[in-house]
Amino acid sequence: MTDLNNSITNLKKKYREIFATSLEEINKRIEEIKPKDFSGDILDTYVKGSEGYIWQEQVVKLLNEDISKEIYRKLNEILAYRVKFKCVGCATCCNLACSEFSPEELKIKAQNGDNFANQFLSIFIPYTSKEEARAVYPEYIELLEENKEDKVYFYHCPKLTKDNRCSDYENRPQICRDFPDNPLTLLPKSCGYSEWKSEIEPITLMLHSMLEIVAFYTNKIINLHKNIV
Ligand code: SF4
Ligand code: SF4
Repeated sequence: MTDLNNSITNLKKKYREIFATSLEEINKRIEEIKPKDFSGDILDTYVKGSEGYIWQEQVVKLLNEDISKEIYRKLNEILAYRVKFKCVGCATCCNLACSEFSPEELKIKAQNGDNFANQFLSIFIPYTSKEEARAVYPEYIELLEENKEDKVYFYHCPKLTKDNRCSDYENRPQICRDFPDNPLTLLPKSCGYSEWKSEIEPITLMLHSMLEIVAFYTNKIINLHKNIV
């Protein structure tokens, strides 16, 4: 498990480094549209309609239009690249699915029209205990526990046969067909998409950090403007 713990620590360290680089890049773009000879900071409070206030409005536009569009275009390229890799039928994702939501929470979400929760509940049932799930794939459970700060619930699909085949393959829901659709999903080593994930992980982390920074600046500026009469 030492290797596993090391790789998790390295990933967190890598994310911190990538986040710092992304912040530097975004700050550079914010400074590029700053009014000439203006000395204020982007998160200072400015009078409505003033030079600083208009700069903040332009920054929100830059973040939510130009930069966000670039981020989503790159994320779509990453997803399109996934088709070059194939599922090898190891069945781990059928045998062990995790969710931050309990079965009761998923039911409420499904009743409220959440399509993912609805599909998830149509196939997966919860393990009776975490230990039961751990017996299926101990290393994967540990990896999930280490990477999730919140509680994780473990599920499995009863449509999986003893020889690891889907007994309802033609009718499997979209979430089965699309897995893994998030490049940051934790994957077992046996997964045919592991190579895809490791190839695109640095760029995905960078895009993820950029989205965090975009949301941070946007919310801060919107709240500053709300408090200005
Ligand atoms: S429906 Fe089939 S593909 Fe989907 S989780 Fe169940 S066994 Fe796996
Ligand atoms: S874990 Fe990956 S390779 Fe294994 S069944 Fe799921 S998608 Fe296919």
